[in-house]
Amino acid sequence: MAVPFRRTSKKVKNQRRTHKKLSVPGMVACPNCGEMKLAHRVCKECGTYKGKEVVNN
Ligand SMILES: [Zn+2]
Repeated sequence: MAVPFRRTSKKVKNQRRTHKKLSVPGMVACPNCGEMKLAHRVCKECGTYKGKEVVNN
């Protein structure tokens, strides 16, 4: 049910939004160089995937 916004306290608003946050999912550390990379993708820092598949860059 709609409630006038001043009737909803800052606390209640903030509590409602605790699970609403900016996040970049699927980031993992590269096992080769340790940089953060997207999971299941070639590392753009060192060009490896699963340890040895190398992309020249
Ligand atoms: Zn890497």
